[in-house]
Amino acid sequence: MYDLIIIGGGVAGMSASVYASRYKLDHLIFGETPGGQGMLAGTVENYPGYVSLPGPELMQKFIEQVKNYGVEIKQEKVGGFEKVQGGFEVKTDKEKYQAKSLILAMGASYRHLNIPGEEKFIGRGVSYCSTCDAPFFKEKTVAIIGGGDAAITGALHVAAFASKVLIIHRRNEYRAEPAWVEKMRQNKKIEEILSNEVTEIKGQEKVEGIVLKNPYKGSQGFKVEGVFIEIGQVPSSVLAGQLGVVVDEQGYIKVNPGMQTNLPGVFAAGDIAAIQGGILFRQFITAAADGARAAASVYQYLHQGKVPAPSWEAFK
Ligand code: NAP
Repeated sequence: MYDLIIIGGGVAGMSASVYASRYKLDHLIFGETPGGQGMLAGTVENYPGYVSLPGPELMQKFIEQVKNYGVEIKQEKVGGFEKVQGGFEVKTDKEKYQAKSLILAMGASYRHLNIPGEEKFIGRGVSYCSTCDAPFFKEKTVAIIGGGDAAITGALHVAAFASKVLIIHRRNEYRAEPAWVEKMRQNKKIEEILSNEVTEIKGQEKVEGIVLKNPYKGSQGFKVEGVFIEIGQVPSSVLAGQLGVVVDEQGYIKVNPGMQTNLPGVFAAGDIAAIQGGILFRQFITAAADGARAAASVYQYLHQGKVPAPSWEAFK
C-alpha cells in the first residue's frame, strides 16, 4: 500500500508530487497526459520566475522535477475508487493500486456551448483549444467565443496564424486579465464583437459561418472557417462521486484551505477543487500552491495521526 496516490498529472498533481517526495511519502501519480492542460497553454507570462515561456516547456520542467525524485508517472486511465481497509483502492484500465491517502487533481474539461452545428463540426473547424489548433487556420477568418483568459490569450495566439479573428463575448466587459485585453486591443487582426452570442455554426462538410443573436454591422451571419469555443471548464469530478466526496453546485470538489475534502484521507487540488470561502482563481500558480498544500496535509494526516475534523460550514 502506497502512502499516497495522486490522480492527475497537471500542475497541481506534479506540484503535490514534488512536495510529497520531499516529505518522503511513497507515492504514484496517474496522468494520462503528463503535464495535463498545462501542455495546451500558450505563452505563460505570469508564473513567477519565468518572464515568458510556452506552457509545454514549463510543464516539461515540472515533469523533470517529479522524475528527478524517482517518482513514476503512470499513464493509465483511472476508472474508479473504492474505500478499503486502511485506505483506498484505485482501479485503472490495467491494474488495481492501494494507498492510505488520495489527492484528486483531475482538473477540468472544456465546456460546450450546445448550439446547432457545434458537435457536427468538432475537428472540422470547431475547436476547444486555440493553442493546439491555431496553425490549421493560417490566413483564414476565425471566431473565438468567450471573454476569459483562455479566449483572450487564444485570440492572440490564433492571430499569429489567421488573417482575421473575431472575438465574440456575451457581455461588454471581459473577465480576462486587463493586461491580456490591452495586448489584444493592440492587435489589428482582432475585432471585438461584444454583448453578442453565437447561436449557430453553419456549413456543409466543414465550418463555413456563424449566426449571431444580435445584428453586428447590419448582419447576423458571418463567414468564418474556424470557431474556437473558449468558454470555461467543467470540473472532472464525476469519478470522485464514487467515494462520496462532496461537490458544490457546479461540480467542484469542496475543500478547506488545507485542501481536505469531507472524507478523511482524501484531498483535492487544482482546477477540480473549490476552496470554501476562497475565490475561484485558476492559474498555474494557484494549482501549484494547491498541490503543495495538499501534500503537506497528507503528510500531517499520515504522520501526526489525525486531521482536524472537516466540520466547516461548507459541508453542512
Ligand atoms: P473563464 O474564466 O471561466 O471564462 C469563461 C468565459 O466564457 C467568460 O467570459 C464567460 O462569460 C464565457 N462563457 C461561459 N459560458 C458561456 C456561454 N454559454 N456562452 C457564451 N459565453 C460563455 O474560463 P477560461 O477563460 O477558460 O479560463 C479558465 C481558468 O483558467 C480561469 O481561471 C482563467 O483565469 C485561467 N486561465 C488563465 C490564463 C492566463 O494566462 N492567466 C489563460 C487561460 C486560462 P461571462 O464573463 O459573461 O461569464
